[in-house]
This record gives sequence, C-alpha cells and structure tokens, in this order.
Amino acid sequence: MDLLIVEDERSLADDIKAYLDGPGVRCAIAGTVREALDTILNKPFDCLVLDLTLPDGNGLEVLRELKGMGRTDGVVIISAKDALADRIEGLRIGADDYITKPFHLAELAVRVQATVRRTRFQGHDRLCFAELEIDLPAHTASVHGVAVPLTPTEFRLLRLLTASRDRVLPRNVI
Ligand code: CA
Repeated sequence: MDLLIVEDERSLADDIKAYLDGPGVRCAIAGTVREALDTILNKPFDCLVLDLTLPDGNGLEVLRELKGMGRTDGVVIISAKDALADRIEGLRIGADDYITKPFHLAELAVRVQATVRRTRFQGHDRLCFAELEIDLPAHTASVHGVAVPLTPTEFRLLRLLTASRDRVLPRNVI
C-alpha cells in the first residue's frame, strides 16, 4: 500500500509515517502543495492523508488536481476543528473521509485502511482474479488455493497490478 502524507508539520508527518509504516506499506511525505502536486504526478497512491493548511496554499488544490486528472487515489483530509467549510468542500470535490486535529493515530490508520478497501477493492479484504486470490490484510496470495511465496515487493506489485488491471501504470510505480 502506497500512502502520501501531505502535512507541513514535520513532526506530525513523521509520527503518522512511523505509525502507518509496516509490512507492505510505504509512506511518502510532502510538506507543501507544490511538492504534493509533483509527487502525485509521478505515481498513483492508494491513499493521501491531506492536511489543508499548507505554507503555499490550501490542500484542496491537491485534491482538485487529483480529481481533475481522473485519479481514484483515496483521500482522507486532516483539518482543524474550525475548518468546517473546507471539509465540506473537500468531501464535495471527492475526498473519501476526514479527521479533525488533534486525532489519535489509531483512528487515522483505521480511516485510511477503510478508504483503501472502499476505493481500491470495493470494500473487500480479498481480491480474486481468475484462479488468483489475494488476502490483503495478511499480505498473502494463492493460486487454486495453494500459497504463493512472495517478497514484499512482489506482493505490492501483484496487488497493484490486480487492483489496476484496466489501467496503464508508469514503469516507476514500484
Ligand atoms: Ca498544516
């Protein structure tokens, strides 16, 4: 699972990254609207964790750009409690969920996972394609019920290609 954390408070971004990182999860960090736009142009993400108050603009610009490109990356907005208008606008443009600061990392993680399940896998924990079955939480795959040994990179690639099978992906997605 590839996540992009768009957050200018570096210590918060690092905390989120440390919490969400794990087997099969890779987190990138962008601290500005500009950096986020550059990063999303390079590759798709399973989910963006998107702060709205950024030094060079509003995080909603990133969301607009993403949707303008027809992208389906999940988006969970993180915002201040009083930013109601921005949260509503974000959901209207196509964000999947939001969480207000301060939040517990455990709650953010659950919202990100739920968003990825909904957007990438139509709400399922298992992805089936012909004789291939991928167990997303367990990071395992089987063919005709026989487990296939995979490295973490091979699993990521298989999962990404299966979830994106109607799309052309750039060479550098992995
Ligand atoms: Ca901020």
